[in-house]
Amino acid sequence: MGWLGLDDTDHLGGGCTTWTMHQVLAALPDGAFVVDAPRLVRLYPAAPHRTRGNAALAAELRVECSPTEWLTWLECTWQDIVLPLRNKKTTSTHNHREQSASDPGMVWFDSPPPHDFYLRAVRELVDVKDVPKATWSAGGRGRIGATAAVAWNGKRATWEGIAWRKEAKGARQVDDDVLASLDDHPDLFACRDPRKGRGLVAPRGVSPVLFGLRGTSPEAVSNGVETLLNATTTEPIIAWELHRTNQTSGDHLTSVIEATVTDVQVRRGGHVTLVTDQAPMVAFRPSGPVAALAATLVKDDVIHALGMMIDGTVHLEGLRHVAGPLRDRQRPRCPACARRMKSLGQGQGLRCRTCDHREPSRWIGTEVSPTAWVQPPLDRRRHLAPDLRNGVPPHLAEHQ
Ligand SMILES: [Zn+2]
Repeated sequence: MGWLGLDDTDHLGGGCTTWTMHQVLAALPDGAFVVDAPRLVRLYPAAPHRTRGNAALAAELRVECSPTEWLTWLECTWQDIVLPLRNKKTTSTHNHREQSASDPGMVWFDSPPPHDFYLRAVRELVDVKDVPKATWSAGGRGRIGATAAVAWNGKRATWEGIAWRKEAKGARQVDDDVLASLDDHPDLFACRDPRKGRGLVAPRGVSPVLFGLRGTSPEAVSNGVETLLNATTTEPIIAWELHRTNQTSGDHLTSVIEATVTDVQVRRGGHVTLVTDQAPMVAFRPSGPVAALAATLVKDDVIHALGMMIDGTVHLEGLRHVAGPLRDRQRPRCPACARRMKSLGQGQGLRCRTCDHREPSRWIGTEVSPTAWVQPPLDRRRHLAPDLRNGVPPHLAEHQ
């Protein structure tokens, strides 16, 4: 038994590490077998070297050939399949983030490294010199993700069936009617964007992937993939594979932060900055309902926030307004003549200017009712983001 990990074999102009891993596993020698579904593991979403969604691959293998034979296979596979993918780079046409050249890594562990290494690699930038030593490894920066994918304990898993195109040319053809019907399946998610009526399973850039169908049960995903592939207007594929993933685990997030707002700054372009007694927080405009809720907040509001801490600022991915000052706050009317009363100054109560009625100082207005969690729309959510419709997953719910 052992674990194979692979990462950083793609660039914006082509390739996908899921496809490279599929080719590697298809080339296994006699006496080596894949034990369980390969793993598609999303890592630190803000890594500067990522191509797209920063995913790495791993697979558990049963190896019955001799150690020498196995090490020879690892070397040959690295040379023949993976190494040719090194140093590829394509500049993005719609994103200012500078792309770096691919720097693949391939690792083999007789027994997996600690899960803690995965947790680090999903929450922060990890240096290649901090990667646990593998039984065998080759390559550069890609060894970080490859090792983290092996280190993931596989819990809090969801599933993704990925189909690769026969010819990676032209617009992707995925039967939209069948996709729409799959969207109602309780164990599948993120099939279509309800706001735009557009499928979410097909990637937009250049890549061998035709679609990735996500769900909470392996059976539902496998059946869904078969249904999509049998649909008349879905284009032919070369192969498809079911993956165990950490998508929607929320593993990139630290637990819920309870904070009191001290200032709200709405920036040009719709980004909202919250100054709080904990840390500054930002809701970017594409976060939709999150930025909209943040913009309604005022000083002394209490919030629950979920997000990644990046350079000392929480980048909000979930927000809940818990409590706060009265909204539309004003002085009550005089009970005798209905005129709005005025304050006589600090600690001196209210007075009606018409009939001189007096009473202790107070405000009236609308009480804040705690809101549900809001989160970015489906097409703007990270692969790792948990669905907050039923609240925060237990491992993140420190303040619940
Ligand atoms: Zn009065």
